[in-house]
Amino acid sequence: MEKHSYPTFDLIESYGHEQVVYCSNKELGLKAIIGIHNTTLGPALGGTRMWNYASDEEALVDVLRLSRGMTYKAAVSGLNLGGGKAVIIGDSRTQKTEGLFRAFGRFVEGLSGRYITAEDVGTGIKDMEFIMMETRHVTGVSIELGGSGDPSPVTAYGTYVGIKACVNEVYGNDSLKGKKVIIQGAGGNVGKHLCKYLFDDGAVLYVNDIYQEKLKSIVTDYKAKIINDDELYSTEADVFSPAALGGILNDETIPKLKVKIVAGAANNQLGHEEEHGKMLNEKGILYAPDYVINAGGLINVYNELEGYNRERALKQASGIYDILKNVINISKSEKITTEVASKKLAEERINAVSNAKRIRIYRDVSMFKMRNQ
Ligand code: NAD
Repeated sequence: MEKHSYPTFDLIESYGHEQVVYCSNKELGLKAIIGIHNTTLGPALGGTRMWNYASDEEALVDVLRLSRGMTYKAAVSGLNLGGGKAVIIGDSRTQKTEGLFRAFGRFVEGLSGRYITAEDVGTGIKDMEFIMMETRHVTGVSIELGGSGDPSPVTAYGTYVGIKACVNEVYGNDSLKGKKVIIQGAGGNVGKHLCKYLFDDGAVLYVNDIYQEKLKSIVTDYKAKIINDDELYSTEADVFSPAALGGILNDETIPKLKVKIVAGAANNQLGHEEEHGKMLNEKGILYAPDYVINAGGLINVYNELEGYNRERALKQASGIYDILKNVINISKSEKITTEVASKKLAEERINAVSNAKRIRIYRDVSMFKMRNQ
């Protein structure tokens, strides 16, 4: 008997996606993949990454991984959004053109709002504005065009309230007065806003960045101390707040940590989600799952869909405090890591809405039957 083999479908099914769209325009050099993971809660929103992937399989795996992450982030944050993401294969320094992004925009338009795009690594406001010439299903455009502009102040605010929730858990009150906080990537967009919030609340700052010149004003304005790379993970403090790279919590760094809390804005902080989440837990370090504490950026673009208002976005981002507290409580009562607890919370919300939708559909079908009897 002939043996069938469907490796691409097997891969897509293993991530649980609803739809994967391959977009091609040979003349304009467009090779893109849009991953729509789950639209139970609403349209799938997530950025478009432009990256020089070595193969189409690598691009597919990345879009599947990233779009599934967006489903969890939106669900746990209480937003009416599903999870999606797109990747454009190419070098963002040399291969960007108006034609490429407009061609991509037409594919987004073809999905009629099931997928809404935004900026990500390798794409920026200008690219989103080219996409906007073809579709209104795009966020992250400039304030002048009705967008929300730079999301990092809202991300930083959400991270700040998330740090307070963790401090409350560990020390019994929210006060940051005198608390030592190490910020990796402090000179970046999120890092510098976070430093201000923490300093204004009385925290003592220890800052690190690969570009030390970015730290000058932080040292002057917020009395921060610069911490070198070789002491970054081993310095004793209350909070370690990563705001630079992913994968920094791993077999090499976790054993060095001398902090009570890890809570920061960087994406994909755990080298391996389950294993390193567990390692932190066993060391007695409270870990704020990254996609919970850094959801301010997503909250910011979500607000763009309703007509942008920064005050409202900040107010919504302040909800990260309670969400994180809830995640911590679940992790304690069920003796699971905070990483697992946040996934559980996200899945529960998706399942509850999906069941409610199913019941509604059954009811509609039964009404149809009654009418036809
Ligand atoms: P950014 O590029 O403005 O800042 C990153 C900073 O980290 C830079 O100052 C850079 O010099 C520094 N850096 C890079 N490598 C480093 C290293 N090895 N050691 C120390 N410092 C290093 O980026 P950003 O927008 O501030 O985002 C920071 C992190 O937060 C990223 O992981 C990003 O994915 C995540 N995030 C950002 C937002 C947002 O609204 N900007 C939202 C959600 C998540």
